[in-house]
Amino acid sequence: MPSGRTHDRITIWTLPVVVAITFWQTRSGNLTLVVATGFMLGGLMFGPDLDIYSRQFQRWGWLRWIWLPYQKSLRHRSVFSHGLLIGTTIRVIYITLLFSFITILGLLIVEKVGNMPLNWQGLGDGILGAIAKYKTEFLALFLGLEVGAMSHSLSDWTGSAYKRFKKQGIAGILPKSSRGKGKGKRGIGKRKR
Ligand SMILES: [Zn+2]
Repeated sequence: MPSGRTHDRITIWTLPVVVAITFWQTRSGNLTLVVATGFMLGGLMFGPDLDIYSRQFQRWGWLRWIWLPYQKSLRHRSVFSHGLLIGTTIRVIYITLLFSFITILGLLIVEKVGNMPLNWQGLGDGILGAIAKYKTEFLALFLGLEVGAMSHSLSDWTGSAYKRFKKQGIAGILPKSSRGKGKGKRGIGKRKR
């Protein structure tokens, strides 16, 4: 499969295509910007390879620890990180829960220590209102993240298929059931790039 560097290049080189298609479909510079941002994030630091010690993981810098539980609970290239839609959905839920938890904890501490009662109801309403107001933007962001992540998974899969093809000829790229048992999956360890 492609190295982290190749993945980065693929993301950067496909960006103009994503921008062009989005703008053509939406006619909105704003939404195009949101999709493009999502795409870059999805390809460079919010992608499937957060399930392993990868460039994507390293790019989170001092915040990278937030992905450790994610990494521990998923096998590398598991369908839950690399799968269509499911990968991005799980990552979005994961990070949303994590940040909500940290934010609520922080606010609770402020409330207790600073002895200032917070308007939780108002806060909740504000957040829900913002989600409702910007739902198109949220959707666009998700779409961008997903396309970025899929450009990654797709090149992973074509990369491995190509490798098998070089090794085993046409048999290597046929569906697994028609291939010899135990081939193709070997040598996939935890640390690969
Ligand atoms: Zn991958």
